[in-house]
Amino acid sequence: MRIILLGMPGVGKGTQAKKICEALNIPQIAPGDILRKAVKSRTEIGLEAKAYMNSGKLVPDKVILGIIEDRLKAPDCERGYILDGFPRTVVQANALGLMLKKAGQEIKLVISLEVSPAEVVKRLSGRRVCSSCGRMYHIKFKPSQQEGICDKCGEALYQREDDQEKTIKKRLEQYREQTAPLISYYKGLGILEKVDARGEIEEIFKKITSLINPVSS
Ligand code: AMP
Repeated sequence: MRIILLGMPGVGKGTQAKKICEALNIPQIAPGDILRKAVKSRTEIGLEAKAYMNSGKLVPDKVILGIIEDRLKAPDCERGYILDGFPRTVVQANALGLMLKKAGQEIKLVISLEVSPAEVVKRLSGRRVCSSCGRMYHIKFKPSQQEGICDKCGEALYQREDDQEKTIKKRLEQYREQTAPLISYYKGLGILEKVDARGEIEEIFKKITSLINPVSS
């Protein structure tokens, strides 16, 4: 089962990807998470990516494709995976198509999660993340029990540098210009499904599950 989750930053791709992965027992592949780890551990890729990420720009395709190509070769990807945050450009989508073709594989389903830009600005600017386990909170919609502390592991919460309002605007602009064209790209391949991503996490997950079940059986 190979699935792509598309959508603006802050639409809930990561949250839904985690739930799908748990349900299907396949890995979530999120280049954003891989890059944040690389930045934290100051690897060569991390040092190269940091400035792009902090200013809300996309990291060059060449860097991302190297990361993805390596990751998809890992044994845990044999049964499938959820791509969360990749592809983000037509160049990346074409490269993914080629990689899969070589391996005799295909993407079965592309789910586009849809909300308004105003909603994602609200979601992203209030988002807080656990510095240890990565669990997500929102200061208004999903606050932790004790302010600034993760309910699960007791570590400090932080605001991602690229969740500052100025950077959010840039990320949305990049989405509109570079990623939104992938909606018609995958529609043209006949594998695109749109999901209204407003409302409760569980409700959205139900809609996603109803799309996955027919293609996985
Ligand atoms: P995310 O966690 O998916 O919001 O990604 C955070 C940042 O990582 C993005 O704003 C980009 O700078 C970078 N990034 C993540 N995925 C990609 C991608 N597929 N292509 C280019 N840059 C990416």
